[in-house]
This record gives sequence, C-alpha cells and structure tokens, in this order.
Amino acid sequence: MSRYADFYRQSIDQRDAFWAEQSRLIDWHTPPRQVCDYSNPPFANWFVGGTTNLCHNAVDRHLAQRATQPALVAISTETETERSYTYAELHAEVQRMAAVLQSLGVKKGDRVLIYMPMIAEAAFAMLACVRIGALHSVVFGGFASGSLASRIEDAGPVAVISADAGSRGGKVVPYKPLLDEAIALSSHKPAAVLMVNRGMAPMHLQPGRDHDWTALRAQHLDTTVPCEWVEATHPSYTLYTSGTTGKPKGVQRDTGGYAVALAASMKHIFDAKAGDVYFATSDIGWVVGHSYIIYGPLIAGMTTIMYEGLPTRPDAGVWWSIVEKYQVTHMFSAPTAVRVLKKQDPAYLAKYNVKSLKALWLAGEPLDEPTAQWISNALQVPIIDNYWQTETGWPILTLANGVEPQTARFGSPGKAMYGYGVKLVDEATGEELTAPHQKGVVAIEGPLPPGCMQTVWRDDARFVNTYWKSIPGRLIYSTFDWGIRDADGYHFILGRTDDVINVAGHRLGTREIEESISAHPNIAEVAVVGIADALKGQVAIAFAVARDASGLVDDASRLRLEGEVMKQVDGQLGAVARPARVYFVTVLPKTRSGKLLRRALQAVAERRDPGDLTTMEDPAALQQVRELVGR
Ligand code: ATP
Ligand code: MG
Repeated sequence: MSRYADFYRQSIDQRDAFWAEQSRLIDWHTPPRQVCDYSNPPFANWFVGGTTNLCHNAVDRHLAQRATQPALVAISTETETERSYTYAELHAEVQRMAAVLQSLGVKKGDRVLIYMPMIAEAAFAMLACVRIGALHSVVFGGFASGSLASRIEDAGPVAVISADAGSRGGKVVPYKPLLDEAIALSSHKPAAVLMVNRGMAPMHLQPGRDHDWTALRAQHLDTTVPCEWVEATHPSYTLYTSGTTGKPKGVQRDTGGYAVALAASMKHIFDAKAGDVYFATSDIGWVVGHSYIIYGPLIAGMTTIMYEGLPTRPDAGVWWSIVEKYQVTHMFSAPTAVRVLKKQDPAYLAKYNVKSLKALWLAGEPLDEPTAQWISNALQVPIIDNYWQTETGWPILTLANGVEPQTARFGSPGKAMYGYGVKLVDEATGEELTAPHQKGVVAIEGPLPPGCMQTVWRDDARFVNTYWKSIPGRLIYSTFDWGIRDADGYHFILGRTDDVINVAGHRLGTREIEESISAHPNIAEVAVVGIADALKGQVAIAFAVARDASGLVDDASRLRLEGEVMKQVDGQLGAVARPARVYFVTVLPKTRSGKLLRRALQAVAERRDPGDLTTMEDPAALQQVRELVGR
C-alpha cells in the first residue's frame, strides 16, 4: 500500500485515533473529551468538551516565535498601496477591533455582518469576531443591496462592519449607499454600523447607529481583549454558497473542527510550514477566502497575502510580480482567473521569476486540460486541481503532497482526501458503484470530517433534507456533482447532477462536452447546456467565447468554426455528444464568484424565465444569449 493509501485508510477505519492525532496541530484551552459524537446523524459534533479559539490559533499562539514576521500583507492595485502587518501588529489591530465591537455591544454568539472590500481591516474584523466568540457573516463586497438585504435578514446581525467604498478596475464603488438601502429593505435592523473610511467616497453617518472606525480605534490603542474560550462546537461563522444552482444556502461552521481541519490541510495537502508565504487570489466573501486567505495560512504561522484588484491591471503580469516580490511559496486561484490570463499575452508570465512557488492550486470549477496545460507550460510549476464546496470548507478531492508526493493528472482533481468517505452512487438506486469508470453522484458517507458544515444556519431541516435525503434508501451526503473514478483512485468531475444531459437515453456530463470543445485552439471558454428536444429528449447546445474573434465577421465564418467544433466533439466523444448548435458570445454569464451560470443559460435557451439572478456578475451576458437563441 502507498503511504497515502495507508493514511487514508486510517482516517476512515480508525477515525477517532486519526483525528485525535490531528487535533494536536492546534492549541486547546481545555482538551477535548470525545473526538466525534455521531449519535444523532447526520449531525456530527467534533472534539466535544474541548475549548479553544480560532483567533488564538491564528494569531496569539505565534507571538512567542514569530512576533516580527509579516502575518498579513494587503496589496491593492486599485489604490496602489501595500500594507504589511507582523504577527505582533496584527495582534494589536485585532484587539482594537475586538474592543470596538464590544463597545458597540457585540457579545459571544452575536452575529456581525462584514461587507467589505479586500482591505486589511476586513481581516481584523473577522479575527476580532471569533476572538470574542461572535459569529461573522461575510458578504462579498460586489453584491448589491438586494442580495445584501436578504443576508442581513437571514443572519440577524447585531452589528455591520463596512467601508466607504471598494474599487474595481479603477472605478470606485461606494458601499455605504448600498448598505443603507439594504438595511432599509431588511426587516432586521442592526443596532450598530462600523464604517472604515478609506477616503474614497463621501459617507453620511446616521447618528446613534453609525460609527467611524478611525475615531473608535483611537480610543482603544493600547487595549487588551483576551480570547473567549469557546466550545469546539461553538459556531465560528456563517457563509453563503455561490448560488450557482439556486437560492444560496447559509453554511454554519464550528470552531474546533475547523481549526483542526485547516491545520491538517496545511500540513498534508499544501505541504506548508510556518514562515512560508501563501497567496490566494480569492475574496474574503467566498469560502476560499475564509479558509485560505485568513484562517489556514495564519493558523499555520505563514504570511498571507490579500489582494484587491484585477488579475490584468496594470497588466497581466501583476500576480507574478507579487509572487516574485514576496517570494510566494503557495498560490491558490481559480480556473476562471486562469482563463482570463489565457486571453492575454503569455509574455507577461515569463517576465517574472516565480521559482519560489511550490505549486499553484486551482479550485471552484472544472479545470479543463487545455487550461491546465497552458498555465503549466507558462509557469513551469506544478498545477494542482482541488475539488470542494463552501459546505466542506477544505478539499474533498486533491493530492496530499505533504503525506506523499503524488502526480497530478490533468482533468482530474485527484484522490479522496483523508477523512472523507467519498463514494460514487447510482442516483436512482442509491447503490454504490465500486468498479472503475462508472458514472455516479459524488457522495460522502457520514460523519462529514472536521471543518465541514454543522448545519444550515437556523434550518436543521433544510440541512437534512437538502444534503442527506437525495440518494434513495440511505442517509448519505450528496455533493450534487457527478463523477467517475479510475482504477488508481483519481476522480473526474463530470458536471453538476442538474447539468447531466440525456440525449436519446445517453447520459452525458456537460463537462465532458465542454472539455472536448475547449481543446479547439480557437476556443477560450465554453458552456454547454441541455435543452428540451421533441425527438431526442434533450440536445446539447454550446455557448463559446473565441480566443481570437476577429475572424468571426459573418455567418459563414461563424458556421465554419461551429462546424470545426462539432467535428472535434464527434471525433472525441461521438456524434451523440455533438452540440446541436454552437453559439459564439463575447462573455458567458457567471456568478460573482466566477462560476458558469448554466441554469440561467439553459433557461434562456429554452425561452424560460431564468429565475433568481442576484448572484450574477454581468446581466449583459444573458442579453447576448437571448438575442442569439431568439433568431
Ligand atoms: P450553490 O450551491 O449555491 O448552487 P455553488 O455550488 O457554485 O453554488 P460553491 O460552494 O462555491 O457553490 O461551489 C462548489 C461547487 O463548485 C462544487 O459542488 C462543484 O460543482 C464546483 N467545483 C468546485 N471545485 C471544483 C473542481 N476542482 N472541479 C470541478 N468542479 C468544482
Ligand atoms: Mg453547491
């Protein structure tokens, strides 16, 4: 047995011993009495009886050894600023923020909503909340008032922390008017609003409710706020899923299990050590931001980089210049960002020395082989796909290079990670598919490992019914993704279960068809959806963005490329998978976290109402589709 196979087996067969060992990676105020209480499935309680604190593990415990090491570097290409905080400075700032929150009446168990751009104060705010046992609920700064209002309503925060403005591509986006509008729309009214003033947009402060961070901070400069020791099962935060398939779900996470899971992932998955430099290009509004901008790297004693700005401004080399300047060792991004870079001149990637990088991890969406190959050639560092969900908080499928160096296979996010009882099951019968190359729903046997969601915020029934009751005949967690596994245990994600296309009785994953289409040299990006067809039940249609659209000047040139794409699919997958149409667009509809909104594409292509579009990035993207399919 390989070292990793053995490690994995232990995590499943000797679950409690395995996690008891991992629990030593963090500091406990009181050690746990019981590793896992799974007496009331599917609810799992990890490290019962233990008390700890996330902020202590992320900040305070490093002071003895690395007080002067940079902990957080906040870089903004929007404001052209770089601010660096050592662990000692971070400790001081977090305590100031914690004292201010306490002065505003925030107590253990209260919720604090954070609606902020990617600035250092956002990190202080998150850490300050968990320091005093309050739950943060971070809402992505790009959301408008409607989405923000529904999250205020659901989280019921005592206080909101925000800033005067964010900035995107050099354009200032004032936050305060959106926040005021959202509070007006919500029936829940937070008692206090704390505003960080970056001096970017004028603000009106409502007397009695709104407070200025700079002024309050000045009153607490030398303050000490001790960490509140909370039960391991005390919720640390709530966070919404991306809303790709429908209404976002409010994920509730614990404290002890999450800290252990992140510490373990840093060691076993990322092969990282204290002093390394971690750069995740995500946003604190998403789960990657929680786990791998803030908590994971800090728990491991690393330097973490927060970035405000586009990957292409001032030019497409900006991320690599950061890697070179800060000697980044671990980088984490998303396939969608790599596809953006792929449309730029590759010379920008060769301009900087990225030798410090151990690897680039990519997650959030399927990483197609051509994109993986492209970035791999350009950077000459290992590219590691990893598959997980807001719900799980850390990777389900990837490579555990810290346990045993493993080779990536492009197109596959890799193997089941320790702790996850990953199964492929038949959607209709619930039967487990054990032979290689069988397609099934990716499911996880309970209990979910430490770090995963405890429940849906304020809705246990939704947690059970949504995630654990969809596979007939058994209580098992469904990821709602469809996949296969090869004989060596490498998994391939074929698409979401909603996106499976049934053409004349053949079940095809949208992902398989997209992968085949994106292998065409002139296709930068593509989305495939199934639409109703009187004859075949469903047919696939594709919406593609050309890498070089200058040749697509008339119907004849578009038809030529469409024909080439169809031929490509015929050759790779067979005529049954051939899309009935390939439409060329300049932009695809995406969520604000950069995921393809196939359900919206499909609805418009079937001339139906696309439903809730509040999580969509650019409404113009759907307009193009409407015009194309309307013809
Ligand atoms: P919602 O659940 O609200 O519809 P969402 O599923 O997009 O939105 P996230 O938690 O942000 O919310 O995304 C998790 C999903 O993203 C996974 O279930 C999977 O469909 C997709 N995904 C993430 N990483 C990968 C990957 N490496 N390969 C393929 N798919 C991935
Ligand atoms: Mg999901």
